[in-house]
Amino acid sequence: MTHDVVVVGAGPAGLAFAAALAGTDLRVAVVERQPVEALARPLPDGREIALTQRSVRELRELGAWHRIDAQGIAPLREARVLNGKSAFALSFGAGHAERLGHLVSNHLIRQALFEVVDGLAGVDILGGRAVHSIERGPHRVVVRLDDGEALQARLVVGADSRFSFVRQQLGIGAEVNRLGRAMLVCRVVHDRDHDGIATEWFDHGQTIAMLPLNGRQSSAVLTLSLAGIDRLTALDQEALGAELTRRYQGRLGRMNVIGQPHVYPLATTYARHFAASRAALIGDAAVGMHPVTAHGFNLGLTSACTLAGLIREAAARGQDIGASSLLRRYEAAHRLAGRPIYTATNAIVGLYTAEHPAARVARHAALRTASLPFIAKSVSRLLMQP
Ligand SMILES: Cc1cc2nc3c(=O)[nH]c(=O)nc-3n(C[C@H](O)[C@H](O)[C@H](O)COP(=O)(O)OP(=O)(O)OC[C@H]3O[C@@H](n4cnc5c(N)ncnc54)[C@H](O)[C@@H]3O)c2cc1C
Repeated sequence: MTHDVVVVGAGPAGLAFAAALAGTDLRVAVVERQPVEALARPLPDGREIALTQRSVRELRELGAWHRIDAQGIAPLREARVLNGKSAFALSFGAGHAERLGHLVSNHLIRQALFEVVDGLAGVDILGGRAVHSIERGPHRVVVRLDDGEALQARLVVGADSRFSFVRQQLGIGAEVNRLGRAMLVCRVVHDRDHDGIATEWFDHGQTIAMLPLNGRQSSAVLTLSLAGIDRLTALDQEALGAELTRRYQGRLGRMNVIGQPHVYPLATTYARHFAASRAALIGDAAVGMHPVTAHGFNLGLTSACTLAGLIREAAARGQDIGASSLLRRYEAAHRLAGRPIYTATNAIVGLYTAEHPAARVARHAALRTASLPFIAKSVSRLLMQP
């Protein structure tokens, strides 16, 4: 064996998983397509991640949270959902707590996790390399890299995103929904204060989320058809700012774009299994969520911590860390954590993006029903779960 575990993908899920194995004697290889320099200093990718209280606790335990500059952490005090022209807003507040969650740029999370993993004994980060093939036997797995090197381990973990090559190599199918829409995300400065309130506005033909950042800045997230997004990407910064101001109906005053816009075509994925003989899937490779409910990374972090927790227990007892009983326990736990939020998110997407008149009525009714204090409180509790 060259290693105990080979992790494919040094995104936030793969890095969090490697970090969660700190303090064990396990030898871990993290294989990543991007060069190590890009992992050490990741560039902004437009994603502002709404972290639940639980994720913050997990990042703290992994030693990553304190590495994120306080200037890069924005408080999320309230979330509001608006429907079309209706003046009614469904609101999720923090109750007695100071904040509902935190917003942190994805590249800052990646950088903090990389710093943790880079300093760990027993971890090899193999940047600028991709996986060529995976062969599994009863006692070991051989991961061949594109430069011909072969890694041998007791377990391979796929953390290589929603169209996972590892998942394909393992012969695990997935539910894949390509939604024919894309998200344009960019940072804007605006005239009015956002008061720490995130807004998700489901309008006809478009969805706009405004996520509050520090100062009078927000992350604008606009979802349109692929053709509509193509038209916007052809605009210069000034024209894009004017277009976003118009589409958001001036709620935050005039908006100016700062930095580079980024585009993400929308597709959701759900792997048929999260584990196979000597292999497991975590992060988006297991469940690729629609970003609308802001749960992809939160769920991915849970998957990384759950699997690493089981492995730590087995390693401490001198047991096989790639045993099928352990992998079955991981799969069951993550299915329980992931399926309800994945299904609920897809239902919300379906309800809020359907354009026919019946859907509009249903939308309106759903918003009002969900405003029952009981439901609003449970959603806030989920976000604020310690
Ligand atoms: C616009 C937007 C907003 C979002 N907002 C939120 C939010 O508010 N809250 C939230 O929780 N989530 C959010 N998400 C989701 C979150 O960004 C993802 O869930 C998270 O990044 C997934 O992490 P990952 O490590 O599984 O995958 P990725 O971040 O995709 O990383 C995968 C890594 O694997 C590498 N890789 C891929 N294939 C190979 C290969 N064959 N060999 C080697 N390396 C490989 C890639 O280079 C990459 O570094 C958002 C997503 C988007 C698009």
